[in-house]
Amino acid sequence: LVSRKWKVNPTVIDFGDGLQVKEGELTLMAGPCSIENEEQIEKTIAHLVSQGVRFMRGGVFKPRSSPYSFRGLGLEGLKMFYQLCRANGIKIVTEVMQVSQIVPMEPYTDVFQVGARNTQNFNLLDELGKVDKPVLLKRGISGTIDELLYSAEYIFSGGNEKLMLCERGIRTYETASRNTLDLNAIPILKEKTHLPVIVDPSHGIGIRDYVEPMALAAIMAGADGIIYETHEKPEEAASDGAQTLSFAESARMIQKMRKTFELR
Ligand code: PEP
Ligand code: MN
Repeated sequence: LVSRKWKVNPTVIDFGDGLQVKEGELTLMAGPCSIENEEQIEKTIAHLVSQGVRFMRGGVFKPRSSPYSFRGLGLEGLKMFYQLCRANGIKIVTEVMQVSQIVPMEPYTDVFQVGARNTQNFNLLDELGKVDKPVLLKRGISGTIDELLYSAEYIFSGGNEKLMLCERGIRTYETASRNTLDLNAIPILKEKTHLPVIVDPSHGIGIRDYVEPMALAAIMAGADGIIYETHEKPEEAASDGAQTLSFAESARMIQKMRKTFELR
């Protein structure tokens, strides 16, 4: 069902207020890796509003390799995040880690992100197939393109057609970068499916200085949108600071991304 053979016209996801994710428009989603506090949210919103970015990302349930790392503010943090975003016309993209979180999160979430560690959590995918809210499905850490498409099929076939795919880098033998952003996946996914393809260069390469060139490359390769990490003080971020852009870097990248998109 997610194949272009089944549906030729690209999927358009409508968020109301004139906001749509669709082929032919560049969608930008930005924000911290983790939601930390009210001031951080307010400062990020001010940055996004000044740049015309309509989606803010940020995790309140964080999948961390070590259980001793910051694991997020949970539902209370999400409620604060939602109230501040709604007052500013910003939509929220946030990770759902397990089935039991879907119902409590739903009133405060605009896009459910499925993280790379949950791409093949088939029970979670089944349940998200029944939800009337958009889903951003990330590619698994060592997942193939076909496995991503099968995971998408779980959600779509359950009845939820508001689905976006996300290339976020895969684990390879390379150790010079955190992951290997698979630019190849972009034209392949664009040909195989009608779903929007969003690229995450932050997790894809994991190194702040290289996020911008990978974002621009992803746009030239056909991405419909870019999701990336930004923070007022990246070196103080509770998670993923090394791959997080300052607001000045983010603003510069946004200008370049929009110019690059026009050249495509
Ligand atoms: C994130 O978006 O902060 C995240 C944990 O992403 P991924 O699941 O791609 O590692
Ligand atoms: Mn992160």
